[in-house]
Amino acid sequence: IHTLCRLFHQYHKTFAPLNFSYYEAISRCEQEVPKYFNFASDVLDKWSQIKKEQKGPSNPALWWINGKGDEIKWSFEELGFLSQKVANMLSGPCSLESGDRVLVILPRIPEWWLLSIACMRTGVIIIPGSTQLTAQDIYYRLLASKAKCIITTDVLAPVVDSVASKSQFLKTKVIVSESRRDNNLSFLVRAASAIHNCVKTKSQDPMAIYFTSGTTGSPKMVEHSYGSFGLGFFLLGRYWMDLTPSDILWNMSDTAWVKAAAGSIFGPWFQGSCVFIHAMPQFDARETLNTLCRYPVTTLCTAPTAYRMLVQHDLTRYAFKALKHCLTAGEPLNPDVMAQWKSQTGLNIYEGYGQTEIGMACANTKETKIKPGSLGKAAPHYDIQIIDENGSVLPPGKEGDIAIKVDAKWPFTFFTRYVDDPVKTASTIRGNFYVTGDRGSMDEDGYIWFMGRSDDVIISSGYRIGPFEIESALIEHPAVAESAVVSSPDPIRGEVVKAFVVLSPSFKSQDPKKLTRELQDYVRKVTAPYKYPRKIEFVQQLPKTISGKIRRNELKNKEWRKT
Ligand code: ATP
Ligand code: MG
Repeated sequence: IHTLCRLFHQYHKTFAPLNFSYYEAISRCEQEVPKYFNFASDVLDKWSQIKKEQKGPSNPALWWINGKGDEIKWSFEELGFLSQKVANMLSGPCSLESGDRVLVILPRIPEWWLLSIACMRTGVIIIPGSTQLTAQDIYYRLLASKAKCIITTDVLAPVVDSVASKSQFLKTKVIVSESRRDNNLSFLVRAASAIHNCVKTKSQDPMAIYFTSGTTGSPKMVEHSYGSFGLGFFLLGRYWMDLTPSDILWNMSDTAWVKAAAGSIFGPWFQGSCVFIHAMPQFDARETLNTLCRYPVTTLCTAPTAYRMLVQHDLTRYAFKALKHCLTAGEPLNPDVMAQWKSQTGLNIYEGYGQTEIGMACANTKETKIKPGSLGKAAPHYDIQIIDENGSVLPPGKEGDIAIKVDAKWPFTFFTRYVDDPVKTASTIRGNFYVTGDRGSMDEDGYIWFMGRSDDVIISSGYRIGPFEIESALIEHPAVAESAVVSSPDPIRGEVVKAFVVLSPSFKSQDPKKLTRELQDYVRKVTAPYKYPRKIEFVQQLPKTISGKIRRNELKNKEWRKT
C-alpha cells in the first residue's frame, strides 16, 4: 500500500500539470475547446516543469545532428529558456507584434524550432517556407502573405535580397548564420533577455499560415489557429505515432509542411517525447539507414517516396538500434513497399492520410488491423463519408468524393480559411460536407481506400481508373522502382492509361519494347485487364513537388499539350 501511495503521489506530481484526459476529451469533441490556449505556455512550459521535478535521466526535447559531427541536445527547460530569448528578439529588434506575419525559410536547423515556439510566445504568425524555394517563389509568398519580416540563412540571403526590396510590406530581414553559431546562438538572440511573458492567445486566433504543396496548382495560403494546431495534433501523437516520454521520433519532413508542425512539434511534444533530427541536405537512403543503426530512434516518420528508396537496399544488413514504429503520410503507400519493409525489418508501416487544411483525417494505428493499401479508418474526431456530386452519402464499396461531415460548426481542428480567398474557402463545402478533393471508397469495416486526386482519375472508354492502383501493380514488378500513371489522349477511347516508369538499376539496359510488353502483361494479370497502361514511357526521374510528391498533373498536361 505504501508503495502504491508513493507511486500514485509520484504520478500526480509528474502528470498533474498536464491533464491528458482533458486534452483527449477535447480532441474527441467530448469537451468544449478552451477559450484560451497556447501550446508554448500550456504544454511546453508544463513539460519543462514536469521534467525538472523528475529524478533520473530523461530524453532531451530536441536532439539534432547534421552528420558532420555537430550535435545539439536541448531539454524542455533549455528549449523554454532559449525560445524566450528568441521571443524577445522578435518583439525587440524585429519590432513584431501579435498578429504580424513572419516568413521563416530555414532548413532543419535548431533555430527553426526556437522560432516556431517564439512565434507562439509572441502571437506572431509563422509562415514556414522551404529552402528549395526560388527567388520567384519567395517573391510570390512575400506579396501574398504581406509578411513584415523574413528569416533565412546566410546561404539563402542573396536569393531573398534579390526580391525583398520589391515587397512594400517587408520591414525586417534576419539571417541565421550556421557558420557563426556561437554558443549555439546567434548574436541577436544571445543579447536578448530570457524572461518573456507568453501572450494569452484565444484558441481561434491565427497561429500559422501554410502554403500547400502546390501539387495541383499554385499553392494556397491555409490559415491555422492555436486550437487547430496545438490541440488538433494531440490524438495524432498519442495514437498514430504511439508516443510516450521515453520515445524518440525522427520525422523527416521539410520544415515548410504541416507534417513538420504535426510530426516535429505538436505531436511529439504534447506527449513529452524527444524530437530527433538528422539534417541531411537531401534524402540519402544509406545515411538514413546508418543513422537508424547508430541512434536510439524508436519512431520513424517519412514519405512513401523515401520508403520506396529505402527498400531498394538490402535492409537485412542493417541492425536498427531501437526502431519499433514506422509511419508515413502525404502520398499513397504502395502495398508492395509496405510488404518489403515488413519482411526485411519485421516492422509495419502505419499510414496516415491528411491535408494541410484538415490535419490528419484517417490513420492506421496499433489498435486496428492494417489493411495494406487502405488509408485506415477515420480519426475519432472526424465523420468521414464517401459522397456523390449532390452531397449524398454513398454505400460501402462505391467510389466517390472523400468528405468530412461538418455540422453547424466548423471542426476546431480545421483550417480557419484560405487567406484572402473566401470564395475558395466556401467552395470546399458541399451540403453538410467538407470535400477533400480526393476520390476513394469505404469498405464495410469503415476502412477508406484512396483512388487518387479527383483531377488525376482517368476515364477511359467510360471506365474510371485511379492511378494509385496501377502504380501499385507496376511497383510489384522487379523492373519498376517508381512510376506515375496519368491520362493520355486517344482518338478512340478519349483517354487511355499512360505510365511513366523509372526502372530499377539492374533493368536499365533491357530492351524497352520487351519490357513494355512485360509490364503491360503483368498489370493485366494483377488488375482488371482494361486498366493496363496502353502507353509506357521510361524516364530517369519523375517530376515532384518540393515535399517529394509526384506531380502527375505536370505529366498529364504535357501529354495533352503534345496533341
Ligand atoms: P495542393 O492542394 O496545393 O495541390 P497538396 O494537396 O499536395 O497541394 P497537401 O495539403 O500537402 O497539399 O497534401 C494533401 C493531399 O495529399 C491530400 O489531399 C491527398 O491527395 C494527398 N495525401 C496525403 N496523404 C495521403 C495518403 N496517405 N494517401 C494518399 N494520398 C495522400
Ligand atoms: Mg490539396
